[in-house]
Amino acid sequence: MSDVFPVSEQWAETSRCDKAKYRAMYERSVKDPDGFWAEMAERLDWMRKPTRIKNTSFEGDVRIRWYEDGELNVCYNCVDRHLEKRGDQVAIIWEADDPNIDRKITYRELHEKVCKLANVLKAQGVKKGDRVTIYLPMIPEAAYAMLACARIGAIHSVVFGGFSPDSLADRINDAQSKLVITCDGGVRGGRAVPLKENADKALEKCPADVKILMFRHTGLDVPMKKGRDIDAGPLMKEASADCPPERMNAEDPLFILYTSGSTGKPKGVLHTSGGYLVYAALTHEYVFDYKDGDIYWCTADVGWVTGHSYILYGPLANGATTLMFEGIPTYPSITRFWDVIDKHKVTIFYTAPTAIRSLMQKGDEPVKKSSRKSLRLLGSVGEPINPEVWKWYHRVVGDSRCPIVDTWWQTETGGILISALPGAIDLKPGSATLPFFGVQPALVDNDGKILEGPAEGNLVMVDSWPGQMRTVYGDHERFVQTYFSTFKGYYFTGDGARRDEDGYYWITGRVDDVINVSGHRLGTAEVESALVAHPAVAEAAVVGYPHDIKGQGIFCYVTLQADIEPSEDLRKELVAWVRKEIGPIASPDVIQWAPGLPKTRSGKIMRRILRKIAANEFDNLGDTSTLADPAVVDELIENRKSL
Ligand code: ATP
Ligand code: MG
Repeated sequence: MSDVFPVSEQWAETSRCDKAKYRAMYERSVKDPDGFWAEMAERLDWMRKPTRIKNTSFEGDVRIRWYEDGELNVCYNCVDRHLEKRGDQVAIIWEADDPNIDRKITYRELHEKVCKLANVLKAQGVKKGDRVTIYLPMIPEAAYAMLACARIGAIHSVVFGGFSPDSLADRINDAQSKLVITCDGGVRGGRAVPLKENADKALEKCPADVKILMFRHTGLDVPMKKGRDIDAGPLMKEASADCPPERMNAEDPLFILYTSGSTGKPKGVLHTSGGYLVYAALTHEYVFDYKDGDIYWCTADVGWVTGHSYILYGPLANGATTLMFEGIPTYPSITRFWDVIDKHKVTIFYTAPTAIRSLMQKGDEPVKKSSRKSLRLLGSVGEPINPEVWKWYHRVVGDSRCPIVDTWWQTETGGILISALPGAIDLKPGSATLPFFGVQPALVDNDGKILEGPAEGNLVMVDSWPGQMRTVYGDHERFVQTYFSTFKGYYFTGDGARRDEDGYYWITGRVDDVINVSGHRLGTAEVESALVAHPAVAEAAVVGYPHDIKGQGIFCYVTLQADIEPSEDLRKELVAWVRKEIGPIASPDVIQWAPGLPKTRSGKIMRRILRKIAANEFDNLGDTSTLADPAVVDELIENRKSL
């Protein structure tokens, strides 16, 4: 039996959605998708109202079209249309890496900056349909750049500012961008990030006609290559603030974004305009119960899809005040998140399990130093959140007062697919709970047979939703192969899940990572959560490795709490602990102490690398370009050798 945190009376009364409304809306959304999504599209301003709503097929060539005869401009919907009512309202609160610096940008200012930049881009020859790579830190210019592209119909490809020159070059080349927008340098946790220098190195591997448009941020002295590098500052000053938004078809591409690379080589996910924006805005409003006056903070980077949909597009389409944070959770001290919450009176806070785990490791004390009384809702995204971590987040950060929405989704899905709606859905720690409107998840066995009732299997989607990706940029065949060939007629997520007696979904981990012990299939999340529930354990990653008798054995990498020393006794205790929590079948065969775990730059554990290390295959680690800290891997290999 899992714990249940029922909807409180107060939430049931004040939230946008209650139990009955959720059920009614969900039912309508799947029975009458055309009617439902036509109505939901009314939240946007269309230049031409769509009459054809859903035209999708998961068969054959896989064509996905939503609102296909509609016309709109995404930037207009995120900025211009708010001017009349909200011109002086803050659109973006920018909190710098340095805790003494922040800036508030109203919708009016945002409009002016975006129009000017759009004109600068046009003057550089950027046209509708061209790709523009954005390689910026978390500064307002990143938002201006994305919106300016949307305004003129250029397709942006944002590359996380922490990526290396090689990774940047790959992404510029894959998207065939002719322009890279960057700045002199960034700062994260007080440390300089040489963005322009990285871009220079990247361009050595790109065609000669690729140009750089550079903003100044840190004032770093950087060489400018004549005829190639353009200083954005003077051009922005001179540019006109009048730039009519381009008329775009709903199915015109809005952006390309590469996935995190947890399971393999990143894919260039393509999203289009109308369906994406309807979906991002609607989910933002319902999942976060967003209302006028909220101060909303999503801690993701704009280089990830979470930053696209839930820092920028969803919130701005809803006329929200969205906070953009340049820094990291631990600078200048581990109270930074809570300090920022108090400073700006944040009401909705959305972050990732990796950040929560690292802060939880430091205990309750640093959190308790802050008030956090403005908070009313918490969110989690990116990985399964271990129930112990969920409870800590709820009890300590949210003072047992704020519901947590555990939002399951992917770069490919454009927006949240499975999540609680606060006030409408009772919470269970560790479960993403129920599908959003229009989303039809199902579990299938390995032969593609649909499983009914409580079950565990491969998580697929039976039908399309407006925010779904349309193709892999430049490689539709890869799109069909990756997502629609494993289980015919369904979108395959690559994740495994369990559905309980209440119909709640529990993500068990990536299907590629499933461990098969003597014919029993074990998800990584369950074993990891059992380990993390032990007071000595801060973080754990579990993989299978070749085992003579069982087929696969269970190999656990365990990071201990800061003040705990590894010992043989503790190892035995943890094995016994997991046996007790889950059962003898889940009994760990090997526990290796891990000072750190290999993670993607977005903070996800890369189990495919851990699997190779466990199997003693050190020479063949696969694509490691998205790894945050390669030194962690070397250390784990050394430890593995001496095991
Ligand atoms: P790649 O596809 O390149 O391997 P990735 O899957 O990590 O990278 P993203 O699109 O950033 O790229 O991540 C989506 C994945 O993150 C999901 O498929 C799921 O495995 C995991 N995930 C996201 N949110 C949650 C959540 N709330 N609970 C459990 N897992 C989650
Ligand atoms: Mg993925």
